Amino acid sequence: MFEYSASADLLQGRVILITGAGDGIGRACALSCAAHGATVVLLGKTLAKLEEVYDQIEAAGHPQPAICPLNLETAVEKDYDDLADQLFDTFGKLDGLVHNAALLGPRTLLDSVKTGAWLQLMQVNVNAPFMLTKAMMPLLRAAPEASIVCASSSVGRKGRAYWGPYAVSKFALEGFMQVLADEQDGTSAIRVNSVNPGATRTAMRAKAYPGEPPEKNPEPQAIMPVFLYLLGPDSERVNGQALDAQQGCP
Ligand code: NDP
Repeated sequence: MFEYSASADLLQGRVILITGAGDGIGRACALSCAAHGATVVLLGKTLAKLEEVYDQIEAAGHPQPAICPLNLETAVEKDYDDLADQLFDTFGKLDGLVHNAALLGPRTLLDSVKTGAWLQLMQVNVNAPFMLTKAMMPLLRAAPEASIVCASSSVGRKGRAYWGPYAVSKFALEGFMQVLADEQDGTSAIRVNSVNPGATRTAMRAKAYPGEPPEKNPEPQAIMPVFLYLLGPDSERVNGQALDAQQGCP
């Protein structure tokens, strides 16, 4: 496991937007960031799930979060621009952006993938992070230092049979991360990195491996150290790196 011990106030005063914050790894990330002092913006598809996370954060006495129900499959550029305007009016900056939401999609031979399923998955896993990042750049530039984290996968770093558009989309996200990271020339304090969570006990993992006992894999909460590290000041000079949540520090 990535070893990092986050101080209780690591993310104090930071505003962090997390996609797919209602379930799985995104939910754990939201709870964990809030517990370390961040004001989290909970973006996701299912309002009820976001509200449950909101209530949990509020009950724990952490900074009051914001809820942003948005379907990344159907959202268009204007939706992202409207969200940026709202966040600008409320917070004036964004210190962290976690591209976590994703679809698993069909796991089959590439040439058997239906074009509609391919396009749907690319919309959520690749086009949405692009449009969201584009809209958020002015807010990220307004932060003293900002961190973008992309949730990747082992199949986004080495291709594997039958992982279909999901694997291709994660390669695209890694490419997006590298290009954007390389464009940060020191005039802005933005860094961009990716995390491969590794096998984690979530609905997506259960769907990908239906025969696997869920308890074989760690709970999402256990893989949070690398996310906290990347979102906080201790990783200030880390840019363009592909990290693993379940392996040692680089
Ligand atoms: P889950 O399927 O458990 O959760 C995915 C989250 O994304 C949900 O909150 C879901 O919202 C949200 N989401 C899906 N589609 C949309 C959409 N159209 N609009 C808005 N939100 C959407 O996935 P995990 O937590 O397992 O995965 C999180 C990330 O980690 C993903 O990027 C995944 O690829 C990656 N990963 C996970 C691994 C694992 O073992 N779990 C291993 C390697 C990588 P809702 O519930 O409302 O649909």
